[in-house]
Amino acid sequence: MSDVKDAAVHAVYSSPIPVVSATRYHDISCGHRVVGHGGKCVGLHGHNYRIHFTVTTPTTDALGMVVDFSVIKDRLCNWLEENWDHKMLLWENDPMAQLLLSPKTARHSVWTILEDSIVKVPFNPTAENIAKYLVEHLGPKMFHDLPNIRLAHVRVDETRKCSASYEVSQSSPVK
Ligand SMILES: [Zn+2]
Repeated sequence: MSDVKDAAVHAVYSSPIPVVSATRYHDISCGHRVVGHGGKCVGLHGHNYRIHFTVTTPTTDALGMVVDFSVIKDRLCNWLEENWDHKMLLWENDPMAQLLLSPKTARHSVWTILEDSIVKVPFNPTAENIAKYLVEHLGPKMFHDLPNIRLAHVRVDETRKCSASYEVSQSSPVK
């Protein structure tokens, strides 16, 4: 093989940047509705979501791990548990959210209960947008002190048959 061919083959096999990943899932139950949906999903309903977090790193630690699985649990799974589990996720621009959370239209006691049960999110809560939000906003927030660790991929199972996912590469800039 010529030197030129040799160099080309070497470039092909050596150029990919290694990425090691570790994945853990967590189950939560949430209500939501999809604003603008033409079918049943426009109504208030809920799912038993299974959310798969995949964190990546270019190099493993001294023990040969991306990060201990308990770190994924402590930082990501527990965040879901504390912020979204058994809550109704409504888009902040959803007229229903604005109506339900308006103190003018609800008696104070009702409003307090609703306020505790509804989480206003900055996106129409489809499975795709949930995955994107977790990757783009939760990941950087939770791993800011671990610059080599990245929440690179989230898969949201809305049912046993349907899931959506969002992914960023290890090398793309953290927002
Ligand atoms: Zn749904």
